Amino acid sequence: MMTLTPGAKRKTAAPKLGAVPAALLKRIEREAGSDAAQAAPAAWMRAVAKACRGELEERLNETMLADRASGAKRVHYLSMEFLMGRALGNALAALELDAPFAEVARHAGVEPGEVLEREHDAALGNGGLGRLAACFLDSLATLGVPSFGYGLRYRYGMFAQRIQDGRQVETPDDWQSLGDPWEVPRHELRYEVGFGGHVTAEDGCGRRWEPAQIVHADAVDFVVPGHDTRRVSVLRQWEAVAVRPLDYAAFSRGDHFGAAHDKVAAESLNWVLYPDDSTPAGRELRLKQEFFLVSASLQDILARHVGEHGSLDGLGDKVSVHLNDTHPALAVPELMRLLLDEHGLPWDAAFAACLRVMSYTNHTLMPEALETWPVRMFEALLPRHLEIVYEINRRFLAAVRLQFPGDEELVKRVSLIDESGERRVKMAALSIVASHHINGVSALHSELMVQTIFADYAQIFPGRFCNVTNGVTPRRWLAQANPTLSEVLDERLDGNGWRTDLDRLAELAPMAGDKSLQAEVRAAKLANKERLAALVRRELGIAIDPGSLFDVQVKRIHEYKRQLLNLLHVIARYQAIVANPSANWVPRTVIFAGKAASAYVAAKDIIHLIHDVARVVNSDPRVGDKLKLVFLPNYGVSLAETIMPAANLSEQISTAGTEASGTGNMKFALNGALTIGTWDGANIEMAEAVGREHFFIFGLLTEQVAKLRELGYDPRLYVEENLQLKRVIDAIARGDFSPGEPQRYRALVKSLLERDTYLLMADFAGYVQAQGAVDRLYTDGAEWDRKAILNIAGMGAFSSDRTIRDYARNIWNVAT
Ligand SMILES: *Cc1c(COP(=O)(O)O)cnc(C)c1O
Repeated sequence: MMTLTPGAKRKTAAPKLGAVPAALLKRIEREAGSDAAQAAPAAWMRAVAKACRGELEERLNETMLADRASGAKRVHYLSMEFLMGRALGNALAALELDAPFAEVARHAGVEPGEVLEREHDAALGNGGLGRLAACFLDSLATLGVPSFGYGLRYRYGMFAQRIQDGRQVETPDDWQSLGDPWEVPRHELRYEVGFGGHVTAEDGCGRRWEPAQIVHADAVDFVVPGHDTRRVSVLRQWEAVAVRPLDYAAFSRGDHFGAAHDKVAAESLNWVLYPDDSTPAGRELRLKQEFFLVSASLQDILARHVGEHGSLDGLGDKVSVHLNDTHPALAVPELMRLLLDEHGLPWDAAFAACLRVMSYTNHTLMPEALETWPVRMFEALLPRHLEIVYEINRRFLAAVRLQFPGDEELVKRVSLIDESGERRVKMAALSIVASHHINGVSALHSELMVQTIFADYAQIFPGRFCNVTNGVTPRRWLAQANPTLSEVLDERLDGNGWRTDLDRLAELAPMAGDKSLQAEVRAAKLANKERLAALVRRELGIAIDPGSLFDVQVKRIHEYKRQLLNLLHVIARYQAIVANPSANWVPRTVIFAGKAASAYVAAKDIIHLIHDVARVVNSDPRVGDKLKLVFLPNYGVSLAETIMPAANLSEQISTAGTEASGTGNMKFALNGALTIGTWDGANIEMAEAVGREHFFIFGLLTEQVAKLRELGYDPRLYVEENLQLKRVIDAIARGDFSPGEPQRYRALVKSLLERDTYLLMADFAGYVQAQGAVDRLYTDGAEWDRKAILNIAGMGAFSSDRTIRDYARNIWNVAT
């Protein structure tokens, strides 16, 4: 047995450690329960996390006490998804323990990066919408906005993606397998959430819901630290627990499964995040999850308000509830039910309070992605809420008839109930009618929102609709992901103030022509490309050249995002290289990553085709280093943090009018990539901030897309008149990339030639031309570097701090 004599201890903490690192080491040793030098990286990770956690909890208590004392209005951000990623690196930076930690780790002979990489990503979200929520929490904390995020604590998050024989295979994401060092259970917070049952009339004509099933909602907190402040925000996640976890009588009879019935029924609410961000899962369990989230959250919010203010008075002045898309839209009828049935408010007062509290963000214009629920399922699960929805609708439609007399078509269109087939509740309509503000997420999207899907509602409530362009947190997406470039910025911008004041980046613009700055930015990029190349070699066994142009498209695989258009260009380039290998090619590495929803066949076909093309291209001796194609599996926040800083070219090529905003586009530009993109989503505002001449813009505009579709789009015409495109399509159709199964891409080719819903054929020529401009600029190194610096300099407005300030001022009416 090893004894820790004072002498032995002094030996571990060598005298050269400063006071802060020495204290940190002591805490790590206490948590690791052993000699730090001997602990495995995973044990280090947990120990360091716990060491941070103590301080975070202290800050949480301080923040809560301060907010209670000040009585300031709080923001409550309700979201079914929070794509948080890893937490340790961010916590260390926020606590200003990153440098001491690195020192302690190296002192003990442990590589700091090794420790940080032991942590699992908390991938409790699908993509952009969930990552936005995570960036917002960082900014809410940093700006000191009194706030809570509310979500569900999924046992399994976004599925892990593996590639087998070129195909995506989904496996469960067991993110808590090493335990969760961050969870702060709130045993004192427990609410009852009901489902099913029926409604009874009370004396005095009140209504009371008697649910058939009740589960407990237990709170688990995750502390979100602010940067350059002691303030924090908190992500409160609900866990469902059976009221009676074990049926003792059944167990005693020997019916062990039956004895656990209630436990399984309750806990299933937390099992999985539904793996699709654009269509309702259509399952009863998803609807139950959504209600579980909003019911527990609103009970918590009202309990806090009553606890602090003694009554529900002033709710609208003190409480803001924001709906991240319509997934938490049941918050509207649930708040009404709580106010009417539990607190006895009259209808008008309850609805006025609801309208002052609620606001809603729309994230998509695709009508098929707007969430609706069958009335029958809704009624079976939430009978009282359906009554409330009907009453909201009755009063709303009466008001519409007064405002637009005789327009029964309008009344039919705007009704909260879709009567066209099986009757369904329209969750976006419900959110709009009960919210004081409704926002889109980029200027174009917000404009199209009121011109297309919500045109009728915009006519009825013209003052409610507004825009708040998305943003990303520079702490994670620049300071943490790209320490090499950050060091250059610290040097040039007089310290690290840019991390909390991203407009400071504009000071780089006048220096963009400076040769030494160009060299520093280029060297940082090269180091990041080497880091990514090492990852590619480790993961895929493929050698890629850090000197080649890294051309990157990473995001969910979706037809509208047009990964296939990118791939068509890769094939065209491959064919051109083979036809003329000795021409002066600019070497390129094309990098893809992204997950396809498990039931989305067309998206999975694209992943398969990328792998088939990669096999052919990467093994063709005529091509060599001129072109490489790689697909990195299991895209997520942590992988993005390695990929983004290494990109030269950012692919943002959605069909104009389909990408609501995009946030990947912002992360890339912030890290010095140039963008090749369509006039879509936030690309537009980015190009305007940076200067259009520093962007590679191509493709049809939104109006041209609409007009072309209206006139009758025929993709074959484009193929017939473009020989290059024809050769590409023919090669796929012939099975050049799938010789063992020449018909493999028949459906894909047929869909391109007959429908081409997202107009790839129409945009192909423009895209290839823009790629030619990319090649030419890359050969002029200095000019490329100058533009890269100008792109970074123009990104100040795309900090989520600016986004949160916009919400605070224009929607939530809170101070920042
Ligand atoms: C930023 C981000 C997204 C969103 O990417 P888009 O290109 O805007 O679709 C999706 N997933 C992860 C992991 C991200 O970090």
